[in-house]
Amino acid sequence: MSSTSASPFPTPFLPPHPPIPTTHHHLLTVDRATFLIDRIRSVDHTLQAHAALLRNNLHHHPVLAFKLQRAYSSLGHLEYARSLFDHTPEPTIFSWTAIIHAHSTAGLHSHALLLYFQMLTDGTVQPNAFTFSSVLKSCSLTQSRALHSQALKFCLDSDPYVRTALLDIYARNGDVDSAQHLFDTMPVKNLVSSTAMMTCHVKYGRIVHARQLFDTMGVRDVVCWNVMIDGYAQHGWPGESLDLFRQMLAAKTRPNEVTMLSVLSACAQLGALELGKWVHSYMEINGIQFNVQVGTALIDMYCKCGSLDDACSVFDKIVNKDIVAWNSMIVGYAMHGHSQEALEQFSQLCCLGLRPTDITFIGVLNACSHAGLVEEGRQFFRSMKDEYGIEPKIEHYGCMVDLLGRAGLLEEAYELVKSMPIEPDLVLWGSLLGACKLHKNMNLGETIAEFLLDKGLANSGTYILLSNIYAMAGKWDAVGRVRTMMKDSGVQKEPGCSSIEVNNKIHEFFAGDLRHPRSKEIYLMLDELIGLIKAHGYLPQTEIVLHDIEESEKERALGVHSEKLAIAFGLISTQPGTAIRIVKNLRVCPDCHTVTKLISKITGRKIVVRDRNRFHHFVDGSCSCGDYW
Ligand code: ZN
Ligand code: ZN
Repeated sequence: MSSTSASPFPTPFLPPHPPIPTTHHHLLTVDRATFLIDRIRSVDHTLQAHAALLRNNLHHHPVLAFKLQRAYSSLGHLEYARSLFDHTPEPTIFSWTAIIHAHSTAGLHSHALLLYFQMLTDGTVQPNAFTFSSVLKSCSLTQSRALHSQALKFCLDSDPYVRTALLDIYARNGDVDSAQHLFDTMPVKNLVSSTAMMTCHVKYGRIVHARQLFDTMGVRDVVCWNVMIDGYAQHGWPGESLDLFRQMLAAKTRPNEVTMLSVLSACAQLGALELGKWVHSYMEINGIQFNVQVGTALIDMYCKCGSLDDACSVFDKIVNKDIVAWNSMIVGYAMHGHSQEALEQFSQLCCLGLRPTDITFIGVLNACSHAGLVEEGRQFFRSMKDEYGIEPKIEHYGCMVDLLGRAGLLEEAYELVKSMPIEPDLVLWGSLLGACKLHKNMNLGETIAEFLLDKGLANSGTYILLSNIYAMAGKWDAVGRVRTMMKDSGVQKEPGCSSIEVNNKIHEFFAGDLRHPRSKEIYLMLDELIGLIKAHGYLPQTEIVLHDIEESEKERALGVHSEKLAIAFGLISTQPGTAIRIVKNLRVCPDCHTVTKLISKITGRKIVVRDRNRFHHFVDGSCSCGDYW
């Protein structure tokens, strides 16, 4: 993307001007013709100029023929350009390059390559740097290696255009080492080549390398900032992405809509609502174009940051909504447990004649699952394939297993998994295993877990679920066995982590975390809260802790789950009455769910928790999920 700015041709057209005077009765000079062709703005003008050249027998003039051919290409009339080129008796290197460039930019790669080889066979001209950079855009990796050695032969390999084009192609095809070598041996590293190298690092997840390069660049344009900001956002470093965005603003570089898409994605990942709102108003104040794409990113951000109302008002503002925008809204509604709205949106988009996609069905099936709408879910799942010809993917099967599993239809869910034409993944097995735990079906749970252990497919989740199933049945020796197996296999439990945004800053907590500067106050607050809710009848649900430790120990292990710490911090660091918004990387456990409900009751605060799967809105002692998640 960056290398396209290195077009070897000057902009062929000047600003608007009066129509070209007819030249029927005047003898056309080369100068006059050049003047006219340089000012061409439409195909009609080109055709008139072409006719004039023919009448005046100037059509074989190399410069004029080249210019006219270029004009045709730029106006998208490659067939005229090609015919003109084919009738040029002795095309110059400029004509050859222009026609190759026109074909490669039009995506006619085999034609571009064919022309290039025709030129070499013709042997009357020698390729220059622009010829190379044009033809390289049409090359495969192997072809570009061959061209690289030809460039060496013509002593053009050190030309910046050729180098950047080569770097770009190596980078795009994943040959990072060759790209890096080319870059390292460049005598002058300009913005274009540095950005191409950075893009390459980012594409292959080498974020640290990209950042090192970024830091060495003296001049940075918006493209370069965007590559780095997006790199962070797309590779799970949303905090760094936002930091860099702040630096970009401080450096007085004006962001564009591409920047905003990355920044909004970072806010969404972090659940940073205050920041997301700030970005939204920044866009409005600074006149950043509001298109469907930006609108959809805003919807996604508001949904993931827990503000469905804002998402809806953005959705209403989008004109010409495409299916992607509808999908974001449907998925958003489902995520928040507004199943009815999600399903209404689905019928609306169908009425409008839009075609649902596989993502639409993920939203719809999730909505059914969260509301326990078993029969509707079964129907949607069937209609996906029968009515819309969409082959269910693993995610759709996942939704169905979730739906059936939660409703206690474990056998049906198990049959569905066994009948799948695609290999079920661990997430799917995990959710079925989770359902076995939920409905205390030890037999099926054991069968599945043992099947997974047998096949070497178990992950930390499998071990934990299995040990939970045994723990609930009081089979402590089996629990011990699973724990030993887990230790021996070297699988580790993914640590629970919750975050909360306070004054534009994200605070992160792990279970039992003591790193926060206000840690002492946080634990005091938590103790006080637990004491208060115990008076409201709270009993810690100790059976979900996986080991057979003393009751009080178990209570402590639960007491310091990360979301409890984040909530306690939210209570001590925000004004009374402010809603508390938490983002959690795993599913909320039943104990934390109960505790959060009670905290919302005794403090009068609204608490919004985004867990791995959905949103929970806790208000006055109850949760929007209706205790079904
Ligand atoms: Zn918990
Ligand atoms: Zn809930």
